[in-house]
Amino acid sequence: MRMPLIAGNWKMNGSLELVEQFGRAFAETGLPPSVEVALIPPAPFLAAMQAALAGSPVALGAQTLNPEPEGAHTGEVSAAMLGEFDVRYVLVGHSERRSMYHEDDAAVLARVKAALAAGLVPVLCVGETLEQREAGQTEAVVLGQVEAVLDALDGKQRARLVIAYEPVWAIGTGRTATPQQAQEVHAAIRARLGEYDSELAAQLRLLYGGSMKADNAADLLAEPDIDGGLIGGASLKTNEFLAICQSAG
Ligand code: PGA
Repeated sequence: MRMPLIAGNWKMNGSLELVEQFGRAFAETGLPPSVEVALIPPAPFLAAMQAALAGSPVALGAQTLNPEPEGAHTGEVSAAMLGEFDVRYVLVGHSERRSMYHEDDAAVLARVKAALAAGLVPVLCVGETLEQREAGQTEAVVLGQVEAVLDALDGKQRARLVIAYEPVWAIGTGRTATPQQAQEVHAAIRARLGEYDSELAAQLRLLYGGSMKADNAADLLAEPDIDGGLIGGASLKTNEFLAICQSAG
């Protein structure tokens, strides 16, 4: 069975103090053993977060990576560098990266390949804008983003991914997709995965992201094809994030 994954994406928020707070909160509060939890802080906090999470089952994630192995790329971070901090997950194709930093499907694919080559688990983020949803293009857009990556990978590589469905209109807006809206898209993604390989469809974890909070997480996670959450704003408060982790157990 698919173990739920709850991943907290801090985006460009947080501080060393918040890292310490989370370290203490995880040490004091047991997490359900049936849930995998990951925290994804800004890159400068990776070392401190690694130390704060030492001895806890919480995994470390990164928000982005450069696809090149090294070189003259001022400001960028490579997959191998992330690996030095025991980073397990790396977000790829987040809508903020796609829209603000112009990462198209080819850029997303290059990052997925670099992450896989370094032994990281790419969390491939996909999702439609409000305009695309209203034009009836949700499935075409989302499956197009999935296919742009999966078509270029082999079966072993595909099996190592996590996919996060994040409707752009729900990110940071307080406007969560209803469980039914989310489930509908998750089911379409899983059906498409089944066309690659039925085992892949059965195993791959599909996370929902977009204004997921303690008070709506349980309903979303109760849907059959929602295997966890990618949490932005609600991952910045220890109590709220821990409550979401509990509701996945
Ligand atoms: P949000 O962000 O929970 O603040 O909507 C989710 C995300 O962008 O991953």
